[in-house]
Amino acid sequence: MPLVTTTEMFKKAYDGGYAVGAFNVNNMEIVQGITEACQEQHAPVVLQVSKGARAYANHTYLVKMVEAAVQECPDIPIALHLDHGPDFETCKSCIDGGFTSVRIDASSKPFDENVEITKKVVEYAHAHGVVVEAELGTLAGVEDDVKVSAEDSSYTRPEEVEEFVSRTGCDSLAIAIGTSHGAYKFTPEQCTRNEQGILVPPPLRFDVLEEVSKRLPGFPIVLHGSSSVPQKFVDIINAHGGKMPDAIGIPEEELRQAAKLSVCKINIDSDIRLAITATIREYFDEHPDHFDPRQYLKPARQAVKDMVAHKLVHVLGCNGKA
Ligand SMILES: [Zn+2]
Repeated sequence: MPLVTTTEMFKKAYDGGYAVGAFNVNNMEIVQGITEACQEQHAPVVLQVSKGARAYANHTYLVKMVEAAVQECPDIPIALHLDHGPDFETCKSCIDGGFTSVRIDASSKPFDENVEITKKVVEYAHAHGVVVEAELGTLAGVEDDVKVSAEDSSYTRPEEVEEFVSRTGCDSLAIAIGTSHGAYKFTPEQCTRNEQGILVPPPLRFDVLEEVSKRLPGFPIVLHGSSSVPQKFVDIINAHGGKMPDAIGIPEEELRQAAKLSVCKINIDSDIRLAITATIREYFDEHPDHFDPRQYLKPARQAVKDMVAHKLVHVLGCNGKA
């Protein structure tokens, strides 16, 4: 099937009590690892591209790689989404350039300005058969070159969501309930430590999610900054010359819980980076004489595939839903 929008996937996910995985793509091995896992698990998927990915890999290369995946995986619905579109022009360029979904992120702007910019993107997108994810509330952490401190982050205010959705006409809403961008989602000071000395992050604000869902019945909610930063990858990285002390993510049980509620899309990026880096660091340590990129990119791609398959089955619950 050709690239699809997220409309149908989200409706099924909402009714079925699961979430679709939205994985960031930056190169061929990542696209292959993700889509091979989804094809095998029969899972719908969103492949998303950030502004940084377009700067790194070039828009045309990314679109063509995703088109290749669509051809190789004929049985599963695949949407191509712009992650964190910073302005109308970037969204327009992706809409004109073959994407089926875009995020306009005007969440750092005052409410009325966010409404105005989002509405403009929605009008253009809908006229071209493309859906729009909007954002209310600000996440802490590092996304491409944008850095937001914990003090400057803010939870989504449930009392604003109905007005925002009805005035903008957006198709889904990314909210802030305590997730965060990057591999260092919380400082050690924000966390507690368990008996093994491992950091335990503050819990997600499920009360905010529930209030938002109550005000927007049937409306798809998106969680971003939702990597779990698996300790096994961090340990491998640190054991093979890396230095990532106190890297920490969102516990998978909390994401699983959100996926059962109104959350229809969960964004995962850092876990892909960690899987690749852990695999390659270990490989280089064990094979100091190897220099063919295929030798180390092959197990890296496999690590992405294994990690994604785990998410589909044990976190998102979207396996078998294609
Ligand atoms: Zn995000």
